[in-house]
Order: sequence, then C-alpha cells, then structure tokens
Amino acid sequence: MVKSLHQKSLPCKILVNNTFYLSPKEKMQADKFKIEHIHPIHGSKEKANSISYSFENSSGIGIVVVVKCLVCEVKLDVTDIDYW
Ligand SMILES: [Zn+2]
Repeated sequence: MVKSLHQKSLPCKILVNNTFYLSPKEKMQADKFKIEHIHPIHGSKEKANSISYSFENSSGIGIVVVVKCLVCEVKLDVTDIDYW
C-alpha cells in the first residue's frame, strides 16, 4: 500500500479568476488583503482594488504565492506551506 505524502488530507484548492488555484487559507488571506487595499480611484469618487497575484518556484520546494496591491505596491506572501 502506498502511503500518502501528507498525513492529513488537505481541502481542495479554490479556482480564482478562472485562472489559478489557491488553498482555502491562501484565498482567505488574499481576500482580506483585497479588502484592506480598496483605494480611491484617481480622479473619481469611486473606490476599487487592483490586485495582482504572482507565483514563484525559486526555492524549488513549493510555490510561493504573493499578492500585490497595484496602487500602493504593498506585497503580501500568502503561501500556505501545508501544500508543499
Ligand atoms: Zn494598497
């Protein structure tokens, strides 16, 4: 019998923007970040957020997920290492 790599079974990753998957924890942190980064739109009375996601595998161990606010350029590493 082949033993699973992980002792506990992890919840399925969630599809975001129809393009990539985040773990529930990563999604939760990214959503929180998005709410914290609702900025006034320049020249408008409205507010919005503009977030980019980046995925890096420079460590070779796992994928590092970083969310970045395109308005104030703050970055947050939301990597869920449970999935490494
Ligand atoms: Zn911001």
